[in-house]
Amino acid sequence: MKEKITIALDGPSGSGKSTIAKRLSGILDILYLDTGAMYRATALKALNSGIDTLDSEGVSGFIDNIDLKIRYMGGVQHTFLDEKDVSEEIREPRVSMAASNISSLKCVRLKMVALQRKIASETSCVLDGRDIGSFVLPDADFKFYITADTDVRAKRRYKELKEKGHDVDFALLKKEIEQRDYNDAHRDFAPLVKASDAIEINTSYMTVEEVVDKIISVVKAG
Ligand code: C5P
Repeated sequence: MKEKITIALDGPSGSGKSTIAKRLSGILDILYLDTGAMYRATALKALNSGIDTLDSEGVSGFIDNIDLKIRYMGGVQHTFLDEKDVSEEIREPRVSMAASNISSLKCVRLKMVALQRKIASETSCVLDGRDIGSFVLPDADFKFYITADTDVRAKRRYKELKEKGHDVDFALLKKEIEQRDYNDAHRDFAPLVKASDAIEINTSYMTVEEVVDKIISVVKAG
């Protein structure tokens, strides 16, 4: 394996990217950057400021000076907004849709992409997102496109939210996932797309271990 590597994991919401990325980061002893957390924190900033997440003028008013920091504590990513650890708050369902909306704005993406490229230039890491292999790091050493059937993804997210004590309606959650998929795939700037050189893995009927083993074998062979 090369001394410094970057692994791009892209795919729609709930496909298992973050679980897989965390495992890869542990096994390969490299950093894990959850780029979705950055869009979520940006959305939280807008929500807290009473700015519509689709109002590009309003958002461009704060994006250049956003105080958003990624810190690692015991190897785990923490997201700080205005020096407050918002790692838990950004997982709330109200933030998910807001993140999907705000991530369609070009000014937001340019700011986040610059931060992501900086982190990836400094150290070996696995990044999960929507546009990592296609836009953020087109020269990433390894690219994977992680998918799963919509029903499977909705069930996974439902279980995850229920376990955290959130009151969720399955039908509504599934609809929201479909809406976020649509938003991600149809935005004008850096949409969700499988990079032409990415390896696609459909995780619907695979265990996490099977997916991780597959990726590790590709990385070790590369
Ligand atoms: O991955 P996660 O669901 O936490 O991401 C939240 C939202 O951020 C997604 O719905 C997507 O719209 C957006 N996102 C993005 N590009 C990325 C990562 C996330 O547009 N690289």
